[in-house]
Amino acid sequence: MGYLRRPNYYKNFKCISSKCTDSCCQEWEIDIDDETLQFYMQVEGEFGDRLRKNIKVPSGRSDIEWKSEKLKREELEDEDSEEIETAHFIQTKDERCPFLNNCGLCDIFIHLGEEHLSQICTHHPRFYDWFLKGEEAGLGLCCEEAARLILQKSGYPKFEFIEDDENDTNNIANPEDEDLLFQKEIEQMLFDMRDKLFGIIKPEIDMNQDEKMQKLYEAAVRFQDEYDDVMFPICDDDLKSEEGNGGKNAVSMKAPKWSAQFWNQEFLESLTEFYLTLEINDENWWKLLCDIRKNLPEILNRRNEFLKYYENNLFEYEQLMIYFIYRHFMKARNDDALFEKIVFALISTNFIQILNIYEWMLNGRITQKTQINICKLYSKEIEYDEENMEQVSLYMSSN
Ligand code: SF4
Repeated sequence: MGYLRRPNYYKNFKCISSKCTDSCCQEWEIDIDDETLQFYMQVEGEFGDRLRKNIKVPSGRSDIEWKSEKLKREELEDEDSEEIETAHFIQTKDERCPFLNNCGLCDIFIHLGEEHLSQICTHHPRFYDWFLKGEEAGLGLCCEEAARLILQKSGYPKFEFIEDDENDTNNIANPEDEDLLFQKEIEQMLFDMRDKLFGIIKPEIDMNQDEKMQKLYEAAVRFQDEYDDVMFPICDDDLKSEEGNGGKNAVSMKAPKWSAQFWNQEFLESLTEFYLTLEINDENWWKLLCDIRKNLPEILNRRNEFLKYYENNLFEYEQLMIYFIYRHFMKARNDDALFEKIVFALISTNFIQILNIYEWMLNGRITQKTQINICKLYSKEIEYDEENMEQVSLYMSSN
């Protein structure tokens, strides 16, 4: 039986369109998938002309006849495996999609209907991940309406589990295939580990956030060891040399007091410096990071006072940990880096708390709206920037 898993709040998402204070149709280059591009090229009349005028053809391919774009792309992909740039809308001077009108509505939606939006416009902010027996979906924190749903108090992570046989590879693959059986075993192992992580985060457990984070960190070290033992079993010779240096599991024994190490000025200075070296998409993010760096001693001094002020909303940090782990942990099946996925969830959640403390220091309070904007800004700058995520990955694995 195949399945589709998604958070309970997923079905409640509806783009708030003109009410959104930060439309996803600005600042980002919006790609157009081949099928939609072909359709746009055939739209007649004034609107068709406007469409074509505002679409950028992939560089070096001005000879391409638009109507056979998909065919040519397939030929090129066969000839040359290098990545091929995708067509996209040409942004206006103020970095908006040229079809985002002054009322904050989409002219393509209005003229051609929702079914003719580019895939990315239809799906955003939803994300998907495919497994051997099913699919997972979720909503991304970079969208303010999605952030509102993610931050809601939901208690123990709740997911809908919908039967969906189309997603079951058992229908197409040989059930005796050993590689496939091994992959299934690994997937199941990771799913079980993720459930244990959710079990640590769940609100019913009587531990504060720092204690939960410590448990999650210890689990990260242990799970990475367990995973490596299955994926990369060590031979007798390796075992002997391990004995010489205290043994492989010595790493787990040495799991440091993670929360204490994080809430330390030196570490936070280096983390903020690191974020400043990444690609910055919004100048406000850069300014905020500079302010954080300057005010770190006071942020650290006043954290306990802040936690008291925010005690009725501390569940938001649990919601964030659940979000980051749900979204990123299972990607470890592609790069074997379980540890860094968990540490990313911890650091991201805590960094959002730092931004919260600073906001509270400045304005004496945090409204739901500011919290949503802070989460959205972090997600856009870090989580939704592929290059930044690559750098973060390297950083997490070494910290
Ligand atoms: S950011 Fe979210 S709510 Fe705002 S326009 Fe985009 S999808 Fe809609």
